[in-house]
Amino acid sequence: MSNRRNFIKKSALGTLGVSSILGCDELNNANIKKTYPRIISTWNHGLDANKKAWEVLKNGNGGLSAIEEGVKVSEADPKVRSVGYGGYPDREGIVTLDACIMDKNSNCGSVSFLQNIKHPISVARHVMEDTPHVMLSGKGALDFAISKGYKQENLLTDDSKKDWLNWKEKSNYKPVINIENHDTISMLLIDDVGDLYGACTTSGAAWKMHGRVGDSPIIGAGLFLDNEVGAAAATGLGEAIIKTSGSAMVVELMRQGASPLEACKTIVKRISKIHKSGPEWDYLQVGFIAINKNGEYAGYSLRKGFNYSLCDQKNKDLLIDAKYEIG
Ligand code: ASP
Repeated sequence: MSNRRNFIKKSALGTLGVSSILGCDELNNANIKKTYPRIISTWNHGLDANKKAWEVLKNGNGGLSAIEEGVKVSEADPKVRSVGYGGYPDREGIVTLDACIMDKNSNCGSVSFLQNIKHPISVARHVMEDTPHVMLSGKGALDFAISKGYKQENLLTDDSKKDWLNWKEKSNYKPVINIENHDTISMLLIDDVGDLYGACTTSGAAWKMHGRVGDSPIIGAGLFLDNEVGAAAATGLGEAIIKTSGSAMVVELMRQGASPLEACKTIVKRISKIHKSGPEWDYLQVGFIAINKNGEYAGYSLRKGFNYSLCDQKNKDLLIDAKYEIG
């Protein structure tokens, strides 16, 4: 690399030492070759989750435990109204959870439509490590969690109950963009030797039909990684993400040489084209994050308002505004 290019990259990185919000152009300049370990997570609650994941990684407990412990921070936080405890319920007033986890060897585990268990990501990890299956759902997932020693608890907080009762007055399913149909935590981690891990956990779309499962527990939709190529994860209207196998497609585009940003953008454009004339267009939001084998990363969404959190050697708590299709 020429000295001049080195200088430009160093200058750009020099601006990233403090917690701040960057635009995507600065972000692109900041991406450098083979930079890891690094962690990116959807949304601003990813900041605390990243912090925990970084701590676990640095303590030598491995990438898998790092992402599990990281996203558990959001699952346990009642102020995060879209994940785990305190998440918005379905239209019957019941909190149902979806989660999945994937490691560098393409092992994966998932739970869907799980109720009364605060940490679905840990149950997903048990599915991966202790069963011959990838996904357990509903009562089967609950029974399995109980067999692993998890306690049942009420996940519907007073605040979420109040919001649900308000919604019920009109019962109009038209999610409020960036508030009611968005906020899953998806975390991607590349460790010290360049191995990839990913996790995704959510209470799903607010006021969904009872029994509805979104993209988040579906490997290839809400999360996908290939340790030779990179990793991608999603947030937003799960139905649209499932229809394009969103995260798997982002990884496949990176395999073909696309940068993380180009790959995310291409799939967001594809989703936009499919849904433009549908009734869901008015409330459609999707966002992807991606990281490649060099540690280069990006986020991109259909509409303005999506951000993601970065943690690495230089930046412990950076919140980045993702680029978007529509303002
Ligand atoms: N993707 C999630 C779902 O459709 C929603 C979200 O991102 O909050 O269930």
